[in-house]
Amino acid sequence: MIVRNALMPRSDASLSEFTTWRVGGPAEYLAEPSSIEETSAWLSWAHDHGMPCRVIGAGSNLLIHDDGLPGLSICLRRLQGVQMEETTGVMDVLAGERIPSLARRAARAGLHGLEWSVGIPGTAGGAAVMNAGAQGSCTAQWLQSVRVIPLNGGESFELQCDQLSYDYRHSRLQEEPLVVVSARFRLEPGHDPQQIGSVTNGNLSHRTTTQPYQQPSCGSVFRNPEPLKAGRLIEGQGLKGTRIGGAEVSTLHANFIVNTGTARSDDIDRLIVLVQERVEERHGIRLHPEVKRLGFNLAA
Ligand SMILES: Cc1cc2nc3c(=O)[nH]c(=O)nc-3n(C[C@H](O)[C@H](O)[C@H](O)COP(=O)(O)OP(=O)(O)OC[C@H]3O[C@@H](n4cnc5c(N)ncnc54)[C@H](O)[C@@H]3O)c2cc1C
Repeated sequence: MIVRNALMPRSDASLSEFTTWRVGGPAEYLAEPSSIEETSAWLSWAHDHGMPCRVIGAGSNLLIHDDGLPGLSICLRRLQGVQMEETTGVMDVLAGERIPSLARRAARAGLHGLEWSVGIPGTAGGAAVMNAGAQGSCTAQWLQSVRVIPLNGGESFELQCDQLSYDYRHSRLQEEPLVVVSARFRLEPGHDPQQIGSVTNGNLSHRTTTQPYQQPSCGSVFRNPEPLKAGRLIEGQGLKGTRIGGAEVSTLHANFIVNTGTARSDDIDRLIVLVQERVEERHGIRLHPEVKRLGFNLAA
């Protein structure tokens, strides 16, 4: 049972329902707070009980082991709320807001800035942590600040964008035990909603024709070894369609690994390693996964 407002002694919630790969074992405890105060209380609860704790957004960049996760997993997808100032372009959002829905709202208000993000099925918090990006733009470009709470509980505080060491799919938030509870975007006001909407729609339809959108995945598995593209290197090795168990290198986009329905976490993990080895043998380039693994060290 999933813990929402009341503490339950144990949760058998399958984390596969919390990842876009549809893979992941049970959470020992699981909480889905819907306010910052509740999030803070759960973080303190885990700390007070000496438990390991981590947060999950939309699980769209996560590979969680089938053995599950000990301690408390906090999923922030219900932590929702948006305040938008159409005249200034300032958009304050709680961390669980979905990026595609923010892109749509911004378009309707004639705010330019998030058109590239409409096909990224993550949360605002996850996007700030991962510096999610596409089409030459990224989160850091439009983010003004985030509000965070230490992972072991305590007071929230604000960090400005220039304090977050943003780089390609990287931020300081990936290394520090901080939970993003809200984000402030500064978008460009005064644009024609129809024009912004049509660019946004165009970006989405481009993605749905070039990426395996209908199958469970976590988007691009590997970071691009710039200026090269990971997908091209993988495709060049003839790896499209390669399978291990229920995991398959997408036949549509080689940097995607899809769950064909029965994938286990180890299938995906082994396929990641196979792709890395093949590309390294041929090109001497080590591909680094963009996706975050949880629970793998425990299962070794
Ligand atoms: C079909 C598809 C297409 C995609 N396309 C793109 C793309 O074009 N560009 C791109 O960059 N990514 C893409 N992704 C990957 C993914 O959507 C992004 O990385 C997204 O930012 C992850 O957000 P999330 O909320 O799902 O984070 P999760 O996957 O839940 O978590 C990712 C990491 O962030 C941490 N985290 C999440 N939320 C918080 C928080 N509030 N505070 C602190 N830590 C947190 C987690 O602990 C974990 O380490 C795609 C994924 C899919 C499935």
